[in-house]
Amino acid sequence: MSDKPSRFPLSLSSVVDKKGKSAAPAGARAQATTQTAAKNAAQSLQRTALKPVQQGLSQALRAQPAALPAAGRAPLPQQPLLSAAPAPKSAVKNVMAVTQTNSSSHASPLASEAVRRAMVARVAKQGVADAKVLAALEAVPRHMFVEPGLGSQAYIDASLPIGHHQTISQPYIVARMIEIMRQNNKGGVLNRVLEIGTGCGYQAAVLSRVAGEVYSIERIRPLHELAKTNLRPLRVANIRLHYGDGMLGLPQVAPFDGIILAAAGMEVPQALLEQLAVGGRLVAPVGGRQQVLELIERVSQREWRRTTMEQCHFVPLRPGTV
Ligand code: SAH
Repeated sequence: MSDKPSRFPLSLSSVVDKKGKSAAPAGARAQATTQTAAKNAAQSLQRTALKPVQQGLSQALRAQPAALPAAGRAPLPQQPLLSAAPAPKSAVKNVMAVTQTNSSSHASPLASEAVRRAMVARVAKQGVADAKVLAALEAVPRHMFVEPGLGSQAYIDASLPIGHHQTISQPYIVARMIEIMRQNNKGGVLNRVLEIGTGCGYQAAVLSRVAGEVYSIERIRPLHELAKTNLRPLRVANIRLHYGDGMLGLPQVAPFDGIILAAAGMEVPQALLEQLAVGGRLVAPVGGRQQVLELIERVSQREWRRTTMEQCHFVPLRPGTV
């Protein structure tokens, strides 16, 4: 781990593989790999052990093809609606609050809760210790964020394709990034956080359980729509989804206590550094073929500190919208 105060723009030469300048392969096959260098050695064993429960879940999913079962837990807590200022058209093309309800969620609570608990136990075994993060992971029904055909794989610790050459992040890395973001000097309190790369909305749902307000930006419109669809039945009132280029952040809502990037750039966009509150923490994968998870803390108005945490693998951060 390096831990040195820096002024931005940072030089990333020490951590970035120059050969990695070309983007990581974007095929679903390549992306459905682990997002961390820490191999889950026990995974195959655990998968075997989990099989009966997973089969239970996939049976439940097959039985409910039209409406994926909601988790059996109480709905995510309702929090007051945010009143975000209208975004400038150039940066953000669409804004919505995920507040609609779904009355037709037929639960298969036992199956999904059991496999989810096992998944959380594996994530804890890999080193995530923050009880609040683990509780959030346990509360969010990941199977509702994957394609119906992949429902039985929803609780293995791997990224999975969500279409458009993108992936739902691996549970371990989702938990790890949030854990790092919470290790602030406010005892983990996060009032407002920003996620770049909504994808299917899974990480936003996890974030909604540890932060007061969650803003999440996605640049691929069909995925932005997918996240809306996935989050709607969970009735999460404190998430705001934006369609736009996350590299620009959301200056009209900043500053943020925490920012998480779910896609890897060769460097962290300056706009995002500027939108971090003093004392805030930004967690981002950085690099091309070789990537590292970086923590950037804003220590003063003009000073940021960068710490390299661990190796990781994410889809590339891209500019613009599609
Ligand atoms: N957070 C997701 C992971 C999604 S994968 C989860 O919960 O699993 C990363 C996402 O980042 C992709 O959907 C990709 O389209 C998006 N992305 C890449 N560059 C972006 C940018 N500049 N702005 C917004 N989203 C971006």
